Amino acid sequence: MAELEQRGDLTPAPSAWEYAEAPESRDIVKLEERYGLFVGGEFVEPASGEYYETIDPASEEPLAEIPQAGPEDVALAVEAARDGFANGWSAAAPAERAKYLYRIARILQERSREFAVLESLNGGKPIRESRDVDLPLAAAHFFYYAGWADKLEYAFPHRRPKPLGVAGQIIPWNFPLLMLAWKIAPALAAGNTVVLKPAETTPLSALLFCDVLRQAELPPGVVNIVTGDGRTGAALVKGDVDKIAFTGSTEVGKAIQRELAGTGKKLTLELGGKAANIIFDDCALDQAVEGIVNGIYFNQGHVCCAGSRLLVQESIYEPLIEKLKRRLTTLRVGDPLDKNTDVGAINSRQQLEKIEELVAAGKEEGAEIYQPPCRLPEKGYWFVPTVFTNVAQSYRIAQEEIFGPVLSVLTFRTPDEAVEKANNTPYGLSAGVWTEKGSRILWMAERLEAGVIWANTYNRFDPASPFGGYKESGFGREGGRHGLEPYLAFDGVEASGG
Ligand code: NAP
Ligand code: MG
Repeated sequence: MAELEQRGDLTPAPSAWEYAEAPESRDIVKLEERYGLFVGGEFVEPASGEYYETIDPASEEPLAEIPQAGPEDVALAVEAARDGFANGWSAAAPAERAKYLYRIARILQERSREFAVLESLNGGKPIRESRDVDLPLAAAHFFYYAGWADKLEYAFPHRRPKPLGVAGQIIPWNFPLLMLAWKIAPALAAGNTVVLKPAETTPLSALLFCDVLRQAELPPGVVNIVTGDGRTGAALVKGDVDKIAFTGSTEVGKAIQRELAGTGKKLTLELGGKAANIIFDDCALDQAVEGIVNGIYFNQGHVCCAGSRLLVQESIYEPLIEKLKRRLTTLRVGDPLDKNTDVGAINSRQQLEKIEELVAAGKEEGAEIYQPPCRLPEKGYWFVPTVFTNVAQSYRIAQEEIFGPVLSVLTFRTPDEAVEKANNTPYGLSAGVWTEKGSRILWMAERLEAGVIWANTYNRFDPASPFGGYKESGFGREGGRHGLEPYLAFDGVEASGG
């Protein structure tokens, strides 16, 4: 190990290479000083009278004032959604609903640069990712569900699908616009109306999306956006809604499930994860290293399905770790708006503190830490891409979701041991398997307790592919035909999966 460290030091660190900065201009984004709540097709002032500041996590610079919606505001938004449901949306010809969804998808494509810059500005993620992943996928979700809107009878033959009514949707800060698309597109395709609460730290792309809705001439009340912190989310859960769709922490998910027990409201939960990325000794090693890096450092590791536990077959442990460390020295950490940036800013001070706490626990429990040489900006929230080796399964860094750019490495000898270690977690959202053998991929996939299993790739998303978890990672599926089901009631049959 010491020898490896030394060799790592001798490797000329390409992070010292001179790069010409290539910042994306932020001029394309026009920010308001102060925003309203989007209720019944209009921006309205919050009855609560309260506002908070949203910032750029890369500079800590304030960007705009955002309403803190109180229970009264949430109730008004739910009422607007009820009106929207009753006044035509639920009864509209399905092909009409599809037209709006297609329009929204096309407008998102047309305005994608503006949205990508705003997403990076408010969330800290590299522009390369918001431009190449978040925006294309968000548009793709609207295109995909537009296609289902008039085919529900075919999707669920003999079950007479009907919309539920008003869906309350609560989303996190890691993929603000993409999570909005995952929630709103299937809900509208199924004929529901929506009240959505974005995360406290990343409300701006949801507020800009209201402009897209107006451009698409979506009828008032079909989509309503209420901003605020967790209290706003709690008020929405208590509100007069027919369904709650939640993505976020397991802790809040459990609280919501307790709150809704016995109310008859439908619920889907997409919660945390601690995925195993499993590397067998017959894999294509360089490709696996790319997959490991993409698995954990994509979006600063703020990804519920991140490959945060690396399971390496013992026979390739040393060469793999050496390659991985070298690869880490080439990652560029810094300005999210710079097109060269690989790892952007941590989303908030609170999240940075959580990462720091868990990393300190890892060191204290005895794991060995590696961080490449790296110059961080002076302002803003940053964390150097980190690898922990010598990790025992009992360590907190092997058990808890860090939700940051921190990888914990464990080893295994046999496929059985890999499965046992991979499943040794309260979560069950995703996993990765790297091997040349197709039969082994299938053998592993049968035994891994995870909703999504990637083979020789990682963090691949497609609107046609259902996504969701087992165990404490939640229930219900988003994406694909499965993603419609939680937004539908069926004649005489309870909708499953929701
Ligand atoms: P969180 O609190 O669960 O946030 C998710 C959403 O729920 C946000 O919109 C949040 O509002 C809202 N919320 C908070 N308390 C609520 C309540 N009592 N009732 C209803 N809604 C409520 O997650 P977080 O605080 O942003 O992050 C904490 C941890 O959750 C992370 O470190 C990570 O481990 C995990 N996480 C997982 C995912 C995922 O995709 N599965 C995403 C984000 C975070 P606020 O924004 O105001 O908190
Ligand atoms: Mg929170």
